[in-house]
Amino acid sequence: MKKYCPKCLNVYSNLDTCPECRHEPPLSVPEDNEPVLLDKIDYLKAEMLKPLLKDHGIPALFKGGHADAFGMNIGMRLDVISVLVPFSAYDEAKNILSMLDGAFDETSEESF
Ligand SMILES: [Zn+2]
Repeated sequence: MKKYCPKCLNVYSNLDTCPECRHEPPLSVPEDNEPVLLDKIDYLKAEMLKPLLKDHGIPALFKGGHADAFGMNIGMRLDVISVLVPFSAYDEAKNILSMLDGAFDETSEESF
């Protein structure tokens, strides 16, 4: 059974405590419409994922994190986007993301 961490919103299978937050409240089973963390991905991938999720009718929330704000600007785009989806759509969204990963790998050689 999948549970999620109410603090960082990560979803885990067969765990009772969050490996990242540890001492925080134990994992609980989310409501179907509860937003959970699909993954943290870079800006480019987020832009590719957005229309795919939309096509599947999955309402997703993209929360941008700007590395610059923490004084870590080393001349690269370091934005990490947290993607939140309703728990009921988590598995489907995960599939879409893995398909995107596959497509991403195939084209990565050409872009460098
Ligand atoms: Zn956590």
